[in-house]
Amino acid sequence: MAQHSDAAPRTVIERCSVATVDGQGTEYADGHLVVRGDRIESVGPGRAPADLEHVTRRVDGTGHLLTPGLVNTHHHFYQWLTRGLAQDANLFDWLVALYPTWARIDEEMVYAAARGSLAMMARGGVTCAMDHHYVFPRGSGDLLGAGIRAARELGVRFTAARGSMDRGASDGGLPPDFAVESTEAALRATEEAVDTHHDPSSGSMLHVAVAPCSPFSVSTELLREAAVLARRKGVRLHTHGSETAEEEKFCHELFGMGPTDYFESTGWLGEDVWMAHCVHMTDADIAAFARTRTGAAHCPSSNARLAAGVARVPDMLAAGIPVGLGVDGTASNESGELHTELRNALLINRLGPHRERALTVRQALRLGTHGGAQVLGRAAETGSLEPDKLADAVLWKLDGLGHSSIADPVAALVLGAPAPVTLSLVGGRPVVEGGRLVTVDEDGIARDARTQADRLARIAGS
Ligand SMILES: [Zn+2]
Repeated sequence: MAQHSDAAPRTVIERCSVATVDGQGTEYADGHLVVRGDRIESVGPGRAPADLEHVTRRVDGTGHLLTPGLVNTHHHFYQWLTRGLAQDANLFDWLVALYPTWARIDEEMVYAAARGSLAMMARGGVTCAMDHHYVFPRGSGDLLGAGIRAARELGVRFTAARGSMDRGASDGGLPPDFAVESTEAALRATEEAVDTHHDPSSGSMLHVAVAPCSPFSVSTELLREAAVLARRKGVRLHTHGSETAEEEKFCHELFGMGPTDYFESTGWLGEDVWMAHCVHMTDADIAAFARTRTGAAHCPSSNARLAAGVARVPDMLAAGIPVGLGVDGTASNESGELHTELRNALLINRLGPHRERALTVRQALRLGTHGGAQVLGRAAETGSLEPDKLADAVLWKLDGLGHSSIADPVAALVLGAPAPVTLSLVGGRPVVEGGRLVTVDEDGIARDARTQADRLARIAGS
């Protein structure tokens, strides 16, 4: 809710470096930010104006860098309970190993997993999160609602992507039949999720996206109908695409074409679509994404963990494709943090063909902020520090042991050790203070996650 009355309280942050990540990449070596209500009132060099009224808080940012809050564009919260398993497998083997356990999740487990996933990201500077949930065992409760509840309690901005799978093994898909829904049930529940939860208002804390899981777990009919549904409702579309060589082979064998051509044939390219991974993309695939303004969620750690390959991020950026960063589910990226993905995106892309010219530290920061906001369809409101945008901002502590000898604060943030978060604001409201979450009990979340992980292991093993 925007607060624009004359008496709306102000928070002032000053004496810090500021990387706005606006269109020009404006930075201030010594700058300030004024927050009023849930919006940014001003950002600029030097101190905030001295005569501001209703300043309820003044933060001394000495030794810190202020950036937009980080935006996560791909995740599966429920995987928080199945971390560290199938440690040496590629995507398909890893999925086949984990599906039977995932098919036993319930609402209580997903709530604990969502709290763990969200807490981990929020503590590391994420202000806008997303969850792609696609496993809905019969009678397991309100799994989408569990993630939504957790995000609301934590106080982070959230996109809940209602996923689905309807292509079981007997239809040539990868998941076992017991882990999939019927096409009709998936579509009905997805429409219901949009109607119940999607809030399109300015400053919204909750969006819903339509998100069938992947070409190898979803029927062609579900893909087509999901695209029609999303456009009828005016919400975004998300799925996994071009993640592995095995997926590419699967698409050629089953559909007689590669993943991107298959997506195009089902209505799945467009500026309202973003896809996770986009690793195995030909020049023609990249051109098709660019032509249609389809976005990509780059997940460097997950791609490395599952030996999927190196996404062509420099080529996608050069073509004008919106690219954000994603943690991906924590069964394939156990750390669950996004701020470390800034560094990993830069390092992994430098192992690709563009070598030292692949990504700069400032491009890495842009991927994790403005780029993420673009692919979630929220760049008009968040992802950069500009007047009238939402006050989603992070103050990183860079004067400690890990960073104090690095002169360039953006290089310190991207290349250095994971930086502590002194303050994180979502819509002007503090979520992290002094490195600790203020909206929830971190230790309680850790305990509950352990309890529910044990419960899942017990049920799945029996
Ligand atoms: Zn994923």
